[in-house]
Amino acid sequence: MAALTHEHWLAALDKVDPETRPFIDGRFIESTSDETLPSISPRDGALIAHIPAGSAEDVDRAVHAARQSFEDGRWRDLPPRERKRILLAWADLILANAEELALLDTLEMGKPITESMRIDVAKAAETIAWYAETVDKTYDEVAPTPGDALAWITREPLGVIGAVVPWNYALLITSWKLGPALATGNSVVLKPAEQTSLAALVLARLATEAGLPDGVLNVVPGRGEIVGQALGRHRDVDKIAFTGSPPVGRLFQVYAGESNGKQVAVEAGGKSPQLVLPGADLAAAASAVAWGIFYNAGQTCNAGSRLIVPHESKAELLAEITSLTDRTFRIGDPLDPSTVLGPLVDENQLGTVMRYLDIGREEGASVVHGGNRVLTETGGTYLEPTIVDGVRNDMTIAREEIFGPVLSVIGYDGDPGEGVRLANDTDFGLVASVWTRDVTQAHKIARRLRAGTVWINTFDASDVITPFGGFKATGAGRDKSLHALDAYTALRTTWLDLS
Ligand code: NAD
Repeated sequence: MAALTHEHWLAALDKVDPETRPFIDGRFIESTSDETLPSISPRDGALIAHIPAGSAEDVDRAVHAARQSFEDGRWRDLPPRERKRILLAWADLILANAEELALLDTLEMGKPITESMRIDVAKAAETIAWYAETVDKTYDEVAPTPGDALAWITREPLGVIGAVVPWNYALLITSWKLGPALATGNSVVLKPAEQTSLAALVLARLATEAGLPDGVLNVVPGRGEIVGQALGRHRDVDKIAFTGSPPVGRLFQVYAGESNGKQVAVEAGGKSPQLVLPGADLAAAASAVAWGIFYNAGQTCNAGSRLIVPHESKAELLAEITSLTDRTFRIGDPLDPSTVLGPLVDENQLGTVMRYLDIGREEGASVVHGGNRVLTETGGTYLEPTIVDGVRNDMTIAREEIFGPVLSVIGYDGDPGEGVRLANDTDFGLVASVWTRDVTQAHKIARRLRAGTVWINTFDASDVITPFGGFKATGAGRDKSLHALDAYTALRTTWLDLS
């Protein structure tokens, strides 16, 4: 396929007329709420659409449709190969409609269109297809009973899943929930983030086109406090699969405790360390550090936001990172395929990041690169890639998730034990990386890093085949890999008397 040009995307933009209504029981229906939220594009501040703010009634209708579809077995009782076929057809349709999905995501969220196509849409399709393939390849178990009995253990779908997702990798994270939830026979109500509702609605329409029975996948856009809360408190929802910020994750645990005690899986944020040990390959580390914090404008849960580097290597490493950043991270219109760094998702997020920079300065750190809002004439929310040096691990910008293109640089004496202590001294535990040329040390340190994923001499290497999630305040539960199938099922024992 020929590379798509900036002009191509600008022309496509003129034709955008997105569906905004909730998708319930196989069709778009009017929300029962008159209130709407403006969907504003961070590329230029333009209005894209008005999204319904949603209501508890919308959620109730969606949960009801999901429950009906679950109880009558129209999906879970289909032969496994038929379910696989439908999910594969859906993955194909996602790819066939990649341009529409990517354009909506980029318009709403601001990530470069090339990345929306290459990562968010392509990997979402890949994830759905991967879980489709598990449907007719997953076996259950027979227990080692004595000869007078036969007992078998089967994985049963949980029922109605409420999937609540953030905006930063909206389609991809949605696929991490929907892939295993649907592959195991559940029905789902999806609540997209306010900032990224439009592509989620297209995704649901495509699922129906692929043959997913009505009611099995419903999407209710709207405000978190209204729609998210109603889903979290709904007594007929069996599980909430949440990815988002730690405080909202905890709210879902409260909602569950105050309603029906539903399961809650929380995938929340990170303050992930890139730990450089003496003698590491600094050129390789520089590239991984820059991409690890500036990709997606730093709005990545597993962004490598804390660089922990020996004092003696710091100047050389920072010079490499700065030079690579200046050469590579071209800031601009996310619809321009040559753009590498798009805007932040909205004015709120930009304001939050700027406040963190002020706090960093007040606490004694120095912004040594970037730190300025740019391209203001566009009306967009663009920020330079930013490096803050002289950070101590007890400063606010080393402890709290900034969620922007801001690298906090923490120097240390080069003692590996001290490096590990600093890396682990955080409330979070999503990912960590260690940079060293010593293979024994690599193994020893990797074992001591308290994170759901530990990378050695790399960063952000990932695939649907490995689990993703974290320790401590990052949450509980894992997305991706075959282990995610367990997250959407419960075990049933059936015992047959043969005596
Ligand atoms: P957020 O917590 O504000 O929102 C997440 C979802 O919760 C959205 O759908 C939102 O509408 C809903 N919500 C918001 N307030 C709510 C409320 N009071 N009740 C019910 N629902 C509510 O998070 P965000 O800003 O969309 O995403 C950024 C956060 O997500 C960051 O903290 C990031 O680290 C985290 N994240 C984690 C992972 C991971 O896998 N660990 C991946 C991506 C993002």
